[in-house]
Amino acid sequence: MLRKHKVPILTLDEHWHRLFTEEDKTERLKKLEMEVNQFLKKRGKANTDLTDVKKVKARLMQNIMENMEGTDGESERMREKRMNKSQKLIKEANDKIARLEYEVEELPDKLAEANTELLVESVMLCYNRINKNKEEIDEMAEKSAVCVPTMMPYITAFFMPRTKGDRPDVIPDGCVNFAFLGQFADTPRDTVFTTEYSVRTAMEAVYGLLGVDRGVPEVWGSVYDIRELLDSSVKLMDGKSPLEIELPAPLNALKKPLLHFVKGTVIEKVLRDHDILKEGML
Ligand SMILES: Cc1cc2nc3c(=O)[nH]c(=O)nc-3n(C[C@H](O)[C@H](O)[C@H](O)COP(=O)(O)OP(=O)(O)OC[C@H]3O[C@@H](n4cnc5c(N)ncnc54)[C@H](O)[C@@H]3O)c2cc1C
Repeated sequence: MLRKHKVPILTLDEHWHRLFTEEDKTERLKKLEMEVNQFLKKRGKANTDLTDVKKVKARLMQNIMENMEGTDGESERMREKRMNKSQKLIKEANDKIARLEYEVEELPDKLAEANTELLVESVMLCYNRINKNKEEIDEMAEKSAVCVPTMMPYITAFFMPRTKGDRPDVIPDGCVNFAFLGQFADTPRDTVFTTEYSVRTAMEAVYGLLGVDRGVPEVWGSVYDIRELLDSSVKLMDGKSPLEIELPAPLNALKKPLLHFVKGTVIEKVLRDHDILKEGML
């Protein structure tokens, strides 16, 4: 399966290097890593050499073309000797090009093969480590884990039942030089137990008392958004749809015929988008 996929060269990937320290590496892993690096180097060198030799060959061919006629004063024998030398060099260049082209074609396969072996060895090493770590969990839990219990404040006060007027308005009527801030001051529509609530009360207080002409960020009107209400009802039921509530038998029997009315309408889409209506309910 691995051979069918193009695996990136591991030794060029910083994530792979982060997997093992030098001490973690097995002899085999080190050997495979070296092999991959050597193939990489060879591939780079073969490509550069090929370009260089092709350039030399082109220059030699150019020389031959230019010297076909021979230069003034040069004897026929001298010209022939020089041509022979150039031809010999061209033949050598051709042999080199053929060898390098073969290497350039063959090396990627060898590199991929070595890289795959390195990947397999790396995965095995990681699995071994995971298994070994598992064995150490019990011992570490008993001897090394330090648990410091910390008390979190109760949040019950935020959610005590209350009626309008239990909490003062941020700027009570008639006040000009003091205001109430924080979770126990009343600001319309917002919900307590968020830092935003405290910040909003502070903004309302400062802007209101000092006449600063800036708007306090709106409380998002989620209570008026049917989509939010549908999402919330599903979340409140741990992912179940309210339509999954078992009703007394006659009411349960009414569910399907009633749902049939929304079929094909935008209501069906909204209900489906928000997981109220699930597969097989219609
Ligand atoms: C367990 C828990 C989890 C929460 N998680 C979230 C969350 O995930 N996201 C979120 O937005 N909100 C969260 N909240 C709510 C949020 O922490 C509070 O709404 C926010 O911290 C209130 O800020 P505040 O400045 O109004 O009041 P506080 O942060 O309560 O600051 C009031 C300060 O006044 C000091 N003080 C009180 N009396 C006096 C006094 N007489 N003299 C001098 N100093 C005094 C107190 O010591 C305190 O430092 C959480 C709250 C709790 C308890």
